[in-house]
Order: sequence, then C-alpha cells, then structure tokens
Amino acid sequence: MFKAVNDSLGHPVGDALLKAVAQRLRRLMRETDTVGRLGGDEFAIIQIGESNQKEAAIGLANRLLETIGAPYEIDGHEINVGISIGIALAPFDGEDADILLKNADLALYRAKSEGRKDFRFFEADMDTKIRLRRALEVDLRNAIARNEFEVYYQTVIDVSTQNTCGAEALIRWHHPQRGLIAPDTFIPLAEEIGLIVPLGEWILRNACADAVNWPADIKLAVNLSPIQFRNGNLVEIVTDALAVSGLSPQRLELEITESVLLQKDAGNVAVLHQLKNLGVGIVLDDFGTGYSSLGYLRMFPFDKIKIDRSFVAEMPNRADCAAIVAAITGLGRSLDIQTTAEGVETEEQFSLLCAAGCTQAQGYLFSRPQPLSALDFKRPTAKHEAA
Ligand code: C2E
Ligand code: CA
Ligand code: CA
Repeated sequence: MFKAVNDSLGHPVGDALLKAVAQRLRRLMRETDTVGRLGGDEFAIIQIGESNQKEAAIGLANRLLETIGAPYEIDGHEINVGISIGIALAPFDGEDADILLKNADLALYRAKSEGRKDFRFFEADMDTKIRLRRALEVDLRNAIARNEFEVYYQTVIDVSTQNTCGAEALIRWHHPQRGLIAPDTFIPLAEEIGLIVPLGEWILRNACADAVNWPADIKLAVNLSPIQFRNGNLVEIVTDALAVSGLSPQRLELEITESVLLQKDAGNVAVLHQLKNLGVGIVLDDFGTGYSSLGYLRMFPFDKIKIDRSFVAEMPNRADCAAIVAAITGLGRSLDIQTTAEGVETEEQFSLLCAAGCTQAQGYLFSRPQPLSALDFKRPTAKHEAA
C-alpha cells in the first residue's frame, strides 16, 4: 500500500500517510495494548488481559477496519487504504511469540487472498492450504512457458435466427499432475500475483489468431480482468493482437465485469472508450450479480449485457427473476444494447428467455466450452432443434 502511494504520489505523501495511519492506530489502542510496526505496511498489535479473547479481538479488528480504512486526506489527495488482519490467540494458537506471529501471519495471508478489508482467525489447517496454494502459484508462474494453457470456446446463439453468431474464449489449464483446471481456481490467483497480465495477453493473441479462421459472421468474445486495465498498455495490446492476427475489430468483443467500473477512477472508462474507438464491442458480463446497478449502464455505452446464469437458473421458478430479465432486455432494446442470457441449460429456460426478449443465448443446452478442434458452428443449433 505504501509502496503504491510512494510510487504514484511521492515519498512525502507516503510518509505523511504512514504517520496518519500510526496516529489512528494509537487512538484505538487501550493502555494494555501494544502496537509495533513490522516493516513496510505491516503492524502487529498485542492485546492482553481480556476475559473473552475472541470477542475482544473481533471488536478490535472491526474498529481497526473502520478507523484505518476510512479515507485519508493528505496534501489534497484522497487516499483509501485497504487493510487486512490476521489473528492468533494465545495459548491455543501458540505459546511463544514466534509461533503466534507466524500463525497470525498465515491468517493474514488468508485474509489478503480472500480479497482484503477483512480479518481472519488462524485455523490449524491453514498451513497445509497455504503450502498447496504456494505450490500452485509456482506452477502457475511456469505454465505459460510450458505451454499448459489452452483456449476453449463456447458458442453463442442468435435467438432470432437460431444460428451460432459467436464464441466466447474460456481459458483452461492442463496441469501436469492435477489434470484440467477450471479458471475459477486459478484466475483469482493469477490476478493476485499479477500473472493475469501476461496470461490475458496470451489468451487474447491466441484467441484472435484462432478466430480469424472462423466464418466471417462469427464473433469472438474474450474476458478481461480488471487487473489488465491497471497496466497501462491494454489498448496497445488489443490493437497489436488484432493487427498481428488480421482479425477485424468488429469481430472482437471484450467482456468486462462491473468491478472495472467500480474503481471509481475515470481512467478505466477512458480506456474502455479507446477500446471502443478501435471498433471492438464492449460487453458488461455477469449482470445481475454484485451491485449491478443500472447506473453502470449510464457510465459507458455498452454494446451488450450478459445476464448472469443465476438469473437464468431461477427464471422457471421465480416470477420476479423473469420480470427483472424482461426489464433488462427492454432497457437493452431502447438503448440499442444486445442482451445475452448465460448458462442456458434447459428448453424451458430458453423459451422463457426468448419470451423475455433476450437477443442471444449461451449455455450447455447448445454447447459446452470445448477445444478449438471440436468447435462446430453448425452443431449447437442442430442439437437444439433435435432436442
Ligand atoms: P464467465 O465469463 O461468466 O464464463 C461463463 C462460465 O459459465 C464458464 O465457466 C462456462 O463454462 C460456464 N457455463 C457456460 N454455460 C453454462 C451452463 O449452461 N451451465 C453452467 N452451470 N455453466 C455454464 P468457466 O469456463 O469455468 O469460466 C469461469 C469464469 O472464469 C468465467 O466466467 C470468467 O469470469 C473466468 N474466465 C474464463 N476464461 C477467462 C479468461 O480467458 N480471462 C479472464 N480474465 N477470465 C476468464
Ligand atoms: Ca464472460
Ligand atoms: Ca458471465
């Protein structure tokens, strides 16, 4: 955190922030508490003499999250710091300082890996889990060079013509020992260690190179991680991937989630505009999860909204889901935005989605994600008609 501030706003601001954090920390401490800086942006607090240790620790952790996490105003900059807390209780989690600190550190590691701004208590199996994670991390770092990734594709159906109109690139990892690993397992880790930037570029380049050989009316959709936006040269990477592959920008769609817009800085929206100016389509993915405020649709002129599969799954049982889907497609129509339903598994869901006005559909009903070699742009519709 301090490094990021030092890098972007300069050392004086970083130092002032450190002092401000220390001041707030001091205000929160009771006489019996001890606080020390472990270095960088890490602090240790020793809390003693509480009758209910666990409750006291939760109380302190919540006060810390609230107080330290509140915005700082330094030199005219508003700075927000995310804090994570790991807690170890003596004597249960260790009888001497070394072990307590090590276990608090393991709990901290967990808190950080679960997205920060929270606290975690030490648990006995954390050590093993973290060892496994570290091993996965090492494997992941080598996986691009070892050619262990493969882009799978899932076709997208145009509702009005019932033909395949596109395919979404979905990454898979052939792990030498563990076999095929789905992205939910390694994308968050790749994001955390920054590896998503080279991996994302690899996916984009390979997918564009694949798609250039598809029929001209088939579009390619590629998922982008919010981390790829932080790197500064996303526009150049996309431009270059298109140029090298020869894929027309009109055939490429980039899928982002609302978290790209959540970061409140105008930078990401500016990058989206630059990407759109290249001629590529910009898609809002997973709509219906998270905050999913309609306000996001005002922040950027999206070409397409993908309605999350949790909505699609509930549609047959819940009238409110169907009503929400119909409202989103209606809005899409009036704003000239396509709407794709994700995760369509049954004929019943599909007919409800057609009735609700979705313009595209994607799901196991038509085809699963599959390797390039198995991709058949005609098959999904035939299968659907036969079903
Ligand atoms: P997503 O972008 O929402 O992708 C759709 C996910 O739903 C895919 O999971 C797909 O296999 C799955 N799916 C499709 N149809 C059905 C269905 O009918 N039923 C069910 N139950 N699931 C269905 P997958 O491939 O495991 O990917 C999971 C997530 O990982 C993706 O969600 C996306 O967020 C991320 N991801 C995948 N590939 C990439 C990538 O190349 N880059 C980035 N940044 N993220 C990726
Ligand atoms: Ca997607
Ligand atoms: Ca999605």
